[in-house]
Amino acid sequence: MIVSIFNDVIGPVMRGPSSSHCAAALRIGRLARDLMDGEFTDVLVEFDREGSLPTTHDTQGSDMGLFGGLMGWNADDERLPGSMQTLRDTGVRIAIETVDAGDPHPNTYRLTLRGERETHTLRAISTGGGMMEVIALDGFAVSMFGDCCETLLWVDGDAKELIASLASCFEAHEILLHESGNRRMVEVKAVGFVGDKIISVLTGITSVKRLFPVLPVMSGKDTQVPYGSCAEMLDHDAGRGTPLWRLAVNYEMARGGLSEDEVIAKMVEIVRIVRRSIAEGIAGTEYDDRVLGHQCGRFDEMMRAGKLLDGGALNRIILYVTALMEVKSSMGVIVAAPTAGACAALPGAIVAMAEAMDLNEEAMAKALLASGLIGVFIATRWTFAAEVGGCQAEGGSAASMAAAAMVTLAGGSLTQSVAAASMALQSMIGLICDPVANRVEVPCLGKNVMAASNALSCANMALAGYDPVIPLDEVIDTAKHVATQMPREVRCTNLGGLSITPTAIALEEKLAARRASACGVGCGC
Ligand code: SF4
Repeated sequence: MIVSIFNDVIGPVMRGPSSSHCAAALRIGRLARDLMDGEFTDVLVEFDREGSLPTTHDTQGSDMGLFGGLMGWNADDERLPGSMQTLRDTGVRIAIETVDAGDPHPNTYRLTLRGERETHTLRAISTGGGMMEVIALDGFAVSMFGDCCETLLWVDGDAKELIASLASCFEAHEILLHESGNRRMVEVKAVGFVGDKIISVLTGITSVKRLFPVLPVMSGKDTQVPYGSCAEMLDHDAGRGTPLWRLAVNYEMARGGLSEDEVIAKMVEIVRIVRRSIAEGIAGTEYDDRVLGHQCGRFDEMMRAGKLLDGGALNRIILYVTALMEVKSSMGVIVAAPTAGACAALPGAIVAMAEAMDLNEEAMAKALLASGLIGVFIATRWTFAAEVGGCQAEGGSAASMAAAAMVTLAGGSLTQSVAAASMALQSMIGLICDPVANRVEVPCLGKNVMAASNALSCANMALAGYDPVIPLDEVIDTAKHVATQMPREVRCTNLGGLSITPTAIALEEKLAARRASACGVGCGC
């Protein structure tokens, strides 16, 4: 699927500690719910022993997201922290097991859903930043991203005639035939569903399912974008020096079939959500099941009283970044930009710097769009998933994107924006992912602040004409390669780095005991 700024990079608007756990799992759950027409009595969730999920699914929010999705909820639903119990209260039996499946992707979900009339299986992977792909359904190899309406037709006998009839009367992006043994399923991807009237005249259909899209920007038929890498973008621009934000608008217009006004308005809405979250964080958040309490209020007081070291706008950036992280850890609403773990560095830096410069929300939106295009280049070549790439994929990407955004706020050139993005990512290559007590708070708070500080430094260096030497695409490829050399223990598995310090282990035990006593039966809900 072609990357979209709003689908893959800036968003989703969500609650929870981790987008690759909560938001992606929620989207998987929603598709699974549609597959069962919302009627099921048993859910079996299986995670591969060698993946990242056996040690993280509970505390990093996979369960919360998955069961919220199975309830049909949205990613920012305030009921999400209690989703498992709510699903159980509807009479659904839930089992979560660790198995030896040999899944190649560390974030693989294997679901079996049973109802009174039918059973279905679904295998999906979370690919980072809330994105997911369904890779198998009832044993058929598929590729579904939730970016269109999916009509699934189980067929008895030869399906070729049915496909020909369908193609003659229905405008589809794609009509795919999946076969396994003597079983056949026809998958129709389109902007709408195949209607009952058409289905009634087709022969051999034994079952029909309709899976609704779960992404904000739909894919069209034969969608094409003008560039997918930084080098292609620079070639396309051919030295005209078009601002990065405008190139981003052009990209998203092509990707999503949107007008320029729609793209900018969508991003202004994101800016408003971020600003509300910042205010909420500074005012103070509360949540029992977290490592850190409310800290940014004190920072705000000291900053206003002139009692901090003079950091210029950097102090306001630190305040906003930490406020957003506190909102995230209290299950408040945040924008995963590009992920929930690294939700604060980029928007916190943009809003703080724009306010310091007396710029309006449209200027903030344009900076976010510029950052979004850098994110497109990263997501197209690689990933935002810490389970695959460590924190260089989350915090490193956020720093790179934020650096380009801050050059945009300063009215810098396209060359300077790209140089800042390259320099910021260069200095975060190799960063591991090792959250303490399986909560995305420590060292994530400091890593977000570091990413934002790094972004500011690199933006100013780029504005002053510093040479990044290595082009951005090559830096991304390097981070990707380094990720393959990083052991699994330091890629968000809770098995290495700070995660296994004596203090972290003691904290995790303390939080687990508190959760068990809060829920009464020790199920961890
Ligand atoms: S260490 Fe980095 S990648 Fe890992 S959870 Fe924290 S912010 Fe995300």
